Amino acid sequence: MNVLLVYAHPEPTSLNGALKDFSVNRLQRAGHTVRVSDLYAMKWKATLDAFDDTDHVPGTAFHPSLGSKHAFENGTQSEDIAAEQEKLKWADAVILQFPLWWFSMPAILKGWVERIYAYGFAYGVGEHSDQRWGDRYGEGSLAGKRAMLVVTTGGWEPHYGERGINGPIDDILFPINHGVLFYPGFDVLPPFVVYRTSKMDEARFAQTSEALGRRLDELWSTRPIPYRRQNGGDYSIPECTLRDDILPEQTGLSVHVAK
Ligand code: FAD
Repeated sequence: MNVLLVYAHPEPTSLNGALKDFSVNRLQRAGHTVRVSDLYAMKWKATLDAFDDTDHVPGTAFHPSLGSKHAFENGTQSEDIAAEQEKLKWADAVILQFPLWWFSMPAILKGWVERIYAYGFAYGVGEHSDQRWGDRYGEGSLAGKRAMLVVTTGGWEPHYGERGINGPIDDILFPINHGVLFYPGFDVLPPFVVYRTSKMDEARFAQTSEALGRRLDELWSTRPIPYRRQNGGDYSIPECTLRDDILPEQTGLSVHVAK
């Protein structure tokens, strides 16, 4: 299988760097082909702007969505964007690995998503009408592929528990798991989270990497998070609201997971 590991940490000797090296080794030893997009090492340009469409005429207005659509349709995207899209098409599974920074991914990784998730590639796919609201949330260009987050946090596990002050980790990662990964079609696996990183030592690193190794060994057999598919009958279209008869008393992010 082909695995793309997208990695966002500025320091190779960091905990994240060690976990990334461990993952690459483990996957290769299991016979997989691994490619790494090491965003800091690549000096990835994080800002989406007019330079992303080589066809853009300086001095004319730049529209982020329509510029992206034009460039994707006409093959005028900047080379770095097209190269990352090719890696996504090549991959059977994609791992996004990053330290949690201000309750989300580091800006460089957000910029990777913003720039390579072009209009026509990751969004704006399929028929949009009163009967159908596009191929998304379970369908789309990346359907059939698996994705998983590997995340490290300074906060303790209970800080991210159901009643923890930071909010439940599944809620914090929902915009990435559901919004960034499930939206264009990935089957999203439960995240691998390493909490309280300041308390890492050699013994804990050995346990942590072994646990990560098991998750990598089970990349193809782990049951994805059962997010509801937009076009699977659970939502009213075109409102895209959960049907009134499903969990009628409940609201919030968890209603989009079929328990
Ligand atoms: P490192 O700092 O490199 O290492 C952590 C520990 O692991 C160190 O003690 C190191 O000695 C040890 N270690 C490293 N490699 C090994 C190895 N191979 N074997 C054994 N031990 C090793 N945290 C939150 O919970 N929520 C937030 O919103 C949040 N926001 C942040 C925002 C910013 C801008 C920053 C800088 C940090 C934030 N943090 C937050 C904390 C952040 O998530 C952690 O600092 C990060 O996850 C630690 O990962 P690292 O790879 O940088 O670890």
